[in-house]
Amino acid sequence: MNVHSEFDLVIIGGGIVGLATGYEILSRHEGLRILLLEKEKRVAEHQTGRNSGVIHSGIYYRPGSLKAELCTRGNRTMKEFCSAHQIPHETCGKLIMATAERELPGLERLESTGRENGVPLERLTRDQIHDFEPHAAGIAAIRVQSAGIVDFRKVAEKLAALIVEKGGVIEFGAEVKAIESSRTSGDGVLVRTRTGEFRAKLVINCAGLYADRVARKSGVDPKCRIVPFRGEYYQLKPEKAELVRGLIYPVPNPDFPFLGVHCTRMADGTVHLGPNAVLAFRREGYRKLDFRASEFFDAVSFPGLWKLILRHGANGIGEIARSLSRRLFVRSVQRLVPEIRLEDVIPCQAGVRAQALSPQGKLIDDFLIIEEAGAIHVCNAPSPAATASLEIGKAIADRADKYFGE
Ligand SMILES: Cc1cc2nc3c(=O)[nH]c(=O)nc-3n(C[C@H](O)[C@H](O)[C@H](O)COP(=O)(O)OP(=O)(O)OC[C@H]3O[C@@H](n4cnc5c(N)ncnc54)[C@H](O)[C@@H]3O)c2cc1C
Repeated sequence: MNVHSEFDLVIIGGGIVGLATGYEILSRHEGLRILLLEKEKRVAEHQTGRNSGVIHSGIYYRPGSLKAELCTRGNRTMKEFCSAHQIPHETCGKLIMATAERELPGLERLESTGRENGVPLERLTRDQIHDFEPHAAGIAAIRVQSAGIVDFRKVAEKLAALIVEKGGVIEFGAEVKAIESSRTSGDGVLVRTRTGEFRAKLVINCAGLYADRVARKSGVDPKCRIVPFRGEYYQLKPEKAELVRGLIYPVPNPDFPFLGVHCTRMADGTVHLGPNAVLAFRREGYRKLDFRASEFFDAVSFPGLWKLILRHGANGIGEIARSLSRRLFVRSVQRLVPEIRLEDVIPCQAGVRAQALSPQGKLIDDFLIIEEAGAIHVCNAPSPAATASLEIGKAIADRADKYFGE
């Protein structure tokens, strides 16, 4: 099959960010000819379908950042979307818990960041912690009432159905191989897959773990490299699931906010422990030994990765140790819930985070959206991008409006 078609907009990536973007743009511009290209056979096969399922509150993020703004708003709009479309979700609240005196300053900093971001929260004493989580062992905690849980795969599937209902086209098994933009002639953009060529006024790259590579295919240097961090989880055996009622998190390391395993009750009632964060040898490497030579050499030839390893190697070694030893993994969970035993846990599905890294070896903290003539690239959309997806979609749609008139 060789398809050659004209569209107004081509979106690359059927994760929650691409789908939310397509849904928002179609809601604003009825009748727009939209094509979404997804390389897998269904939506949400990567980060969107392999995460903790937490509707974050916005407490962690630097005030004034895109993450803070879009997550606090996204917390509300995600729940409204789920209610409107009968997607099961729950506002179960989250405890961020200090388990030692040395963690108290971090907890205080977090409390003031949360208040600055307008997140409703309360401070709990050791005894009050037990009112919410009877088996947790903290000395103090912040309770974030607005945090919740949902299966983001279900949200993505709903968004896909709504796009199709509104006349959008979703093509599966359609990996984008090349993008040619005629920036000067104003002829729009030509997007190539193995089986087709598609011309559009605008292309939006929401390719998650491959967003930097897709940007480069269109001649844009995103000035960062996506580094894959695998996050492995264990699950509590069903008979032990009552040890965790909602979400129990440690005080985060400000340099690596995604480090620190936590306890998460999922929307289906199971309790997941994790994730850790281990550098993966392949962008979609869900198993420990998954390796793809081209991606491995691409990563190790990037100076930013070596600078990161030199600066934060000790953290990395700790994470690898936790990956190799179930005992060490469980020990870090026991700091939060001491009654969890080695024999209470079973391994379950892993996910891989797409984290952009600068050539200077710094993790790019905020969402990163790069705009070029005829193209918008979402080059960094790590957690809480699933929570914030509907708001990210609106932010991208604001930039896309000029291509399609009011
Ligand atoms: C372990 C883990 C835990 C997390 N926990 C949470 C959480 O609790 N709450 C939260 O809000 N966020 C969480 N996140 C973050 C969240 O999952 C992501 O930020 C979000 O899913 C990003 O969505 P996306 O659409 O950008 O990426 P993805 O879901 O990865 O989608 C990108 C899509 O692009 C497709 N694609 C790639 N290249 C091409 C190509 N060349 N052609 C066509 N298609 C292509 C891929 O197949 C994929 O389907 C977590 C992430 C991980 C990994």
